[in-house]
Amino acid sequence: MSALSSTGRIVLSRKGFFNVENGGTVCICKAATRLRLEKKEPLCGDIAEFTDNGDGTGFITGLLPRRNCFPRPKVANADVLCIVAAVTDPEPDLFSIDKLTCLGVLNGVETVIVLNKCDLGDCSPMRDIYSSCGFRVFRTSAEGGDTALLRGYLAGRITVFAGASGVGKSTLLNRLYPQHEAQTGDISDRIKRGKNTTRHTELFPTGDGGHIADTPGFSALDIEDVGLFSSDTLTDAFPEFTPFVNECRFRGCGHTKEIGCAVRNAVERGIIPASRHESYVKLFGLLKNKTPNR
Ligand code: GDP
Ligand code: ZN
Repeated sequence: MSALSSTGRIVLSRKGFFNVENGGTVCICKAATRLRLEKKEPLCGDIAEFTDNGDGTGFITGLLPRRNCFPRPKVANADVLCIVAAVTDPEPDLFSIDKLTCLGVLNGVETVIVLNKCDLGDCSPMRDIYSSCGFRVFRTSAEGGDTALLRGYLAGRITVFAGASGVGKSTLLNRLYPQHEAQTGDISDRIKRGKNTTRHTELFPTGDGGHIADTPGFSALDIEDVGLFSSDTLTDAFPEFTPFVNECRFRGCGHTKEIGCAVRNAVERGIIPASRHESYVKLFGLLKNKTPNR
């Protein structure tokens, strides 16, 4: 039988094998030699061209251009980055959250904040910070909150979850998609099993046309490593700065401590949250030191 050529989405990547889904059937593929020689690594979320040997196995022969790509977890073509933070226990680390928003914004994915554990404290301060910057904020708790709203929002989309350990990502995912728990067992247990699973990335079908990237690495996003930013483009990662960046007194203003800076002025007037500007200044310093010839 001659091999059939088609396209499909990679929904699982494990030890050099890729499950490619096309019209409800899955073909277990390896990357064709040419792809490996070209150092094109197929990722979960990629739309792959593949040949089906006719027995449920095949070869990936090409990858369609990616809209975006996350480093950890390795996922391509995500639609939404869902940053989960707890109101308390653990206390929110705004700098880490802001690094994640930068990663989402610069990758061109819709970036939303999920404030979890709203039963344990007042979520208004965090909600105000992020909604004033234009991010959609969902409030959830073990009792529910916006869980149904969030489920509706994620329907039909590919979502990457991120957030510090202990904020309640696994609990939230299991509440959003109970069938996921039934199929895979408690996600946090799998994560705790550790190293064996770290090279495994999966897009779990949510049953409503959507997928969630399920991987043990999902809290490990570290923008300093990925070279996605430079200090020159950092303002692009802070959408709430946009109305002000061209109003500064000096061209090339870094918006850190320059005189006549319209961004700092907006912070002083309470239009831009102070914590966001603090994160910006911290990142600016980190990135400036990493950028060559500066
Ligand atoms: P993960 O590390 O982000 O996956 O967090 P887990 O889902 O494992 O949750 C960490 C702890 O927080 C567990 O003890 C959960 O029972 C608890 N937890 C999760 N969500 C909530 C919530 O909405 N409210 C409260 N009070 N506790 C929660
Ligand atoms: Zn400025």
